[in-house]
Amino acid sequence: MNRLWSSVTNSLTPYVPGEQPKNIDNLVKINTNENPYPPAPGVLEAIKKACNKDLRLYPECNAQIMVDSLVEFYKLKHPDAKLESENFFIGNGSDEVLAFALRAFYCNQKPLNMNDITYSFYTVYCDLFGIPYTIHPLNRDFTVNVESFVKAKGGVIITNPNAPTGIYLDVSQIKYILDNHKDDVIIIDEAYIDFGGTSCAELIAEYDNLLIVTTLSKSRSLAGLRIGYAYGHKDLITGLNVIKNSFNSYTMDRIAQVAGAAAIDNWKYYDIITDKIIRTRQWVTAELDKRGFKTLKSSSNFVFTTHPDYHAIDLARGLRNQGVVVRYFNKPRINEYLRITIGSDDEMQRFFDALNKEFGI
Ligand SMILES: *Cc1c(COP(=O)(O)O)cnc(C)c1O
Repeated sequence: MNRLWSSVTNSLTPYVPGEQPKNIDNLVKINTNENPYPPAPGVLEAIKKACNKDLRLYPECNAQIMVDSLVEFYKLKHPDAKLESENFFIGNGSDEVLAFALRAFYCNQKPLNMNDITYSFYTVYCDLFGIPYTIHPLNRDFTVNVESFVKAKGGVIITNPNAPTGIYLDVSQIKYILDNHKDDVIIIDEAYIDFGGTSCAELIAEYDNLLIVTTLSKSRSLAGLRIGYAYGHKDLITGLNVIKNSFNSYTMDRIAQVAGAAAIDNWKYYDIITDKIIRTRQWVTAELDKRGFKTLKSSSNFVFTTHPDYHAIDLARGLRNQGVVVRYFNKPRINEYLRITIGSDDEMQRFFDALNKEFGI
């Protein structure tokens, strides 16, 4: 209790990010789902070009250059979604977009519904904004209890594929939830969608209450720049802008805007590295299997795995001794699991070497 803090500040428990070690040169850092491959060469070029005297000027406040790239990209990849400029909202990381969205759509009497095991920032935002929420336990096999969301009153936020389980929920199931929540905003956080799921982008044309949020941090190798975006019906985007412009009109700096646009334009490069990560995930899953691990079926750039003979906390500590950093969550239901980001083949080989050296498995 700090006497100079407001009662809200005194009451909050903030999100705890995964460890970001100072010196990663000799570490295998597979704990926060970053991409092992660099951003596309075109992205680095765009950044260099933007480092000029124009930095004295404020940036364009809607990141229109990136929106233009997104419109082109979705025309190509999801033509039936029929997305135009007015359907996109760009933010300083999808965390910020999510914060604005929760503030914009849920600060009323009805609760926000979410899974018990999911991205833990959602409840932190709810506490910050005073949003009531209802927790829906995942089924025993860690799949989403869809019926429970269908019956619930209020908004819904679902990570798909889910984190930290990696399990993908089919678009038809999301449609089922949307059909039963016509007057609530449904947010689908597709941070990991490029690694194996099908985006529900096309549903935007059909549902004015669907907001999809995603990030350039994972599949676009840009965690260091902080770029995320949302898309949905234009009225939802207007609502997001009301909140943003009541907080900070210039969330996207000039460098992030051009880098984000270049990352979207260079989708061919990213398709190649995403395929590589998926192949590495398949190999890692098979290797974990040989060593007695039980791994959930992942559609993400990480696997969630448990070993019947070892406590997850001991595995995490042993791996850390060997310079391999993985993510451990000391939470009910998942405290015997490790979340392991899929790195390069070389990094994953070093992970297996460390397991062998420390535990003989
Ligand atoms: C990583 C992640 C985010 C945050 O992404 P940023 O754009 O880096 O803020 C949001 N949601 C989920 C589920 C994530 O895993």
